[in-house]
Order: sequence, then structure tokens, then C-alpha cells
Amino acid sequence: MPVTMPSDPLNLYDLGPAALDAALAPVVSPLFRVKQIREWMHVRGVDSFDAMTNVPKELRAQLAQRFTLAFPQVVEVTEPANDGSRKVLSTLGDGSRIESVYMPMGERTSICLSSQAGCAVGCTFCVTGFFGAGRNLTPSEMLGQFFTIQHEHQVPSELLNVVFMGMGEPLLNFDHLMTTLDTLYPTIAPKRITVSTSGIIPGIEALAAYDRRPNLAISINAPDRKRREEIMPITTKYPLDELMAVLKRYPADKHREITIEYVLLAGFNDAPSDAVALARLIRGLDAKVNAIPFNADPNLPSWMKRPADAAIDRFVDTLVHSGVGVTVRRSKGRDIAAACGQLRGKEIATGRAARRGA
Ligand code: SF4
Repeated sequence: MPVTMPSDPLNLYDLGPAALDAALAPVVSPLFRVKQIREWMHVRGVDSFDAMTNVPKELRAQLAQRFTLAFPQVVEVTEPANDGSRKVLSTLGDGSRIESVYMPMGERTSICLSSQAGCAVGCTFCVTGFFGAGRNLTPSEMLGQFFTIQHEHQVPSELLNVVFMGMGEPLLNFDHLMTTLDTLYPTIAPKRITVSTSGIIPGIEALAAYDRRPNLAISINAPDRKRREEIMPITTKYPLDELMAVLKRYPADKHREITIEYVLLAGFNDAPSDAVALARLIRGLDAKVNAIPFNADPNLPSWMKRPADAAIDRFVDTLVHSGVGVTVRRSKGRDIAAACGQLRGKEIATGRAARRGA
């Protein structure tokens, strides 16, 4: 189980709205000052008390003595890919590295966030899984990724989508995820936030009971249990048939389908017969498929290859003919999110090589 590092002094972004008010109460009055501080944090996402220009200087100094508003520090931003996507590599207080992704999509923009500094789930097609477990990110570390990208690109919040699809399994960091969502909701509506999971059944059930649910995406990647076990060992703990039963009970929100993510691996799960089997598997669900051609990486098994465009077309056409809505990420740039963890993986591999004197 990943361990969360304590933060000292208290980072106010680690508190949900009610806990924030309680922490400020002994220091800040009258009430409208609390509201001002909340707005500077939750709407503008500032990372210093000095930025709160309508708050008296003495109060800002008092706050800075007791609390912090620190965000992860950006260490690298990639050049824009062919569709404008950029990966952001950041370092945390304990030296862990995480990735986030900025993805412009026409008028709208998606920001992909990491929820853990590694991942114990171990999907074999994933670089983050290859490098293994890392601790849970705190709410301030998740919110910091979001606000840093929003500030850098000056995207109006009404044009933003947020996806928890970066490094880590968000439903294994459930409490911090919920605090992060509660802080984001004044700015980003639940229907514009998506949480992507490998199929952690207790987490999905907990999310189902939550009254302000974000959108749900499930990483399925194979149309049957045997093949899913091969590439997603978590299937032995949370079997595919049980997962599908839980999804079929998941509360249906109007105009909000479940997204079925399906990484396409040449010769493994990309045949038209696999598309037919996938359509059968998800029958009865209000769901659409997001087909993601595999993004190769030197750390991943060499048999894993991206299918040819013709094979992708055949797979997608078969799904469509089976009555399933499907989107496909054709752009290499957009695959950047599916391959989250590659930039950090490259850095780790380079560091290891350097230590070996390569
Ligand atoms: S795909 Fe997601 S759940 Fe699977 S190992 Fe990678 S980060 Fe973890």
C-alpha cells in the first residue's frame, strides 16, 4: 500500500473546502476574508500568499508563517507534439517525479493528471506499471499539476476538461482524490472530470455512492478474462465478470456514458472477432469505446506493437457495425496521455545507465 508523505507545514491545498475553513478560522476573520482566500486558492489557484493582493499584508505574513500553498516544481516540458499536446514532468517534495499532460482539442482543452508517483497495478503495456509502485499523491500535488498547466496556457476554466488518467490508479488513492474533486468542483463541473480506473471494484462502488460523481472510464483492453489477465494482473483480484456486473449496476447519469478504454495491441486484441467479443462484453452498458493504438516504449515487452492503420480501421468498423460508439486516438501526440509515465521512465532509465557508467 503506497504511503502518503506528511507535509509540514500544513499545505492548505491538502484540505477540502470545509477543513480549509476550519483551519483558517483561528487565524482569519471576518468571514469575508476566508471567502477571499478560498477564491484565490480554488478559483485562481495561486501558490503564494503574497499573490492574494486584496488580503492585508500582515494577515498574509501570518498565514505564510503557519501554512504553505506549495505545488510540485516543473522540471521539464516537452515540445508540442503534432497536435499541440505537451507533457510536463514535475518533482515533488520528496524527490518523486510525476507527469501531467496538456492536450488542446479544438476549442476545449484537457488536462491529464497523475494520482500516484508510480503504480502497483502492473499493467504490462504501461511504463508507469513497469517501474512499479509509488506513493499516493496528496490533494495539493494533484491540484498543483492542474493549476500549473492552467496558468501556463491561460485556458478559461469553462473550456477545460480534467482526466485522471496519468500515472497511478486514482481509485487506490480514493480519499485524496475526493478531496481534490471537492476543491475542483467550484471551477470544473463533475461532468467535465473523468476518473480512469483499471477496474478497482471497491473504488467503483464507492464512487457510485458519491452524489457528485465524475465521469467514469474503465481500462478493459481485452474482450475476455484470460487475455485481460495476461496484460492486466489486477484481473485475478477483480475478475472481469464481476467488474462488468458492477458496471451494469453503476448509476446511469443522463448524457454521461462510461468510457471503455481499449489499448490496441497488434495481433493480440485487434482482430475483428475481438471487436465483436468486446461489443458482446459491454452490451447493456451505456458506454462508448475509446480505442488507443499502443505506444511502443523500450521498457515494454518487444512483442507489443501498434497495429497497422488498416487493422485499426477494421477493428473500429466492426465495433460500429456492432452498434457501439467508438472514438480512436490516431494522433501520435494524443497517445501521449495513454503513454503517461514515459517521460519519467526515460529519466529513470537514463539515471540508471549513468549510475552504471554507461
Ligand atoms: S495503466 Fe494505469 S493502472 Fe495500469 S499500471 Fe499503468 S498507471 Fe497503473
